[in-house]
Amino acid sequence: MNISEFAIFPVEMPLDDKDWTFALATVSSARGWGVRVSADGLHGYGYAPAVPHMGSTFEGLPIELTRFKPIVLGRDAFGVEDLLARLDRSLSGANQAKAAIDCAIHDLQARALNQPLCNLLGGRLRTKIPVLRILAIKTPEEMANKAAELFDEGYRYFKIKVHGDVEDDVARVRAIRQRLGAQAHLTIDANQSYWPKDAIYAINRMAEFGLDLVEQPVPRHDLKGLELVTRSVPVTVEADEGAGTVEEIATLVSNRIVDAVSLKIPKLGGLRNAIAAARICESGGVKCRVGAHVGTRLLNAHAVHLASALPQVDYACEVGEFARMSGDPFTGLEVKGGHVAVPEGVGCGVAPAGDLPVLAD
Ligand SMILES: [Mg+2]
Repeated sequence: MNISEFAIFPVEMPLDDKDWTFALATVSSARGWGVRVSADGLHGYGYAPAVPHMGSTFEGLPIELTRFKPIVLGRDAFGVEDLLARLDRSLSGANQAKAAIDCAIHDLQARALNQPLCNLLGGRLRTKIPVLRILAIKTPEEMANKAAELFDEGYRYFKIKVHGDVEDDVARVRAIRQRLGAQAHLTIDANQSYWPKDAIYAINRMAEFGLDLVEQPVPRHDLKGLELVTRSVPVTVEADEGAGTVEEIATLVSNRIVDAVSLKIPKLGGLRNAIAAARICESGGVKCRVGAHVGTRLLNAHAVHLASALPQVDYACEVGEFARMSGDPFTGLEVKGGHVAVPEGVGCGVAPAGDLPVLAD
């Protein structure tokens, strides 16, 4: 089944909150590029979010995808290992673009086989995924108000964005715990913003309020600092930015630098690499879960199928951020009662909501 068409289209989804802030940036929309691959009258879709700290921007992605187009065209849609190797030889990095192609081809394969995507990833182990929702940096009271609103909608897992100021950040965790009570599961994400000793001090204080997990407390390349934090706090420490490739994850796991790893399809370059990374974690006794997939339901559908098929994922996953955005060009995935059901239809389970703004050649 040879790929006869390769098309890309821009996606921009305005955020409900135009001042959505985390430690690395303030954003007002989620942007990226969709990929459509076609063969035998069928289409497969994938998505590359523009996330500068993963390496690729909104402006750069179409250049990378256009470079890859002649490598994809004419290739067997079931020869994904061969194709990914060719992409790697053509350009190092560019994992978001490679992931969009990997996802589009897996979607196409699943549609050709008339199967849900998870059946190509090992089979569905769970039918719904609990969703962890992210709370952007604001005052403790504002964040507690937003958390309470989401709690009332059925969410029970929350990620509190923090920015490396011990007193401010402890106040955020305290306020949210006091508002939500014992039923809420709380995590924090510092997006690399702490000095290791400050992280240890802050996390030990936050632990008094009940904290399940701490994400990327220190800069991504400070492995010694990250290991020191892991050894010094009573909370699961998870790598995100520092777990940017399968190779980095192998280093983190083999040296037991963290307790857990955040898997993201765009960061790791696709579903196959994400599964490989999960196996590495499993073999080294390190936890993993499916981290933030910010953008269209298309991206999250792939992430939900992945989460449903990984045996060791036993915590909530960040597959519902589309609920705080408008203008999604894809439909077919929703959060209900704090969970996303794994789509049962063929492929990744979502479909274009209308005509896509496909770029002409
Ligand atoms: Mg993170």
